[in-house]
Amino acid sequence: MTDEKFAVEKSDTEWRSLLSAEQFRVLREHGTERAGTSPLNYEKRTGVYHCAACGQPLFESSTKYESGSGWPSFFRPLPNAVATTTDRSHGMTRVEVHCGNCGGHLGHVFDDGPQPTGQRYCMNGLSLKFEPK
Ligand code: FE
Repeated sequence: MTDEKFAVEKSDTEWRSLLSAEQFRVLREHGTERAGTSPLNYEKRTGVYHCAACGQPLFESSTKYESGSGWPSFFRPLPNAVATTTDRSHGMTRVEVHCGNCGGHLGHVFDDGPQPTGQRYCMNGLSLKFEPK
């Protein structure tokens, strides 16, 4: 996935014991959930979206918006919450987004988001855990 070092590092065996099989496939193996399948697409409450693997706060509900993509979308992460890499898989060049604390794969970021940032953080709901305020 990446050669970066993270504050939280675990073996695949440990991650498998902590995550569902689907979460492991997305977070640790760079998978993508099927569009439109996450209950978080419909989550409208006030609260914070955390990394489903390590619990780090990643996004405020105030930055979530309906992108129409079928994946939970945000226009801005919390400060220092996520990091990015260049993803050249599947014949495309995309910016991959992962948790800055554990390296878990979250999704991708695109430049077609709304103001004020113009960015669309297109996230797998399986990588997120919502905590209402
Ligand atoms: Fe994490």
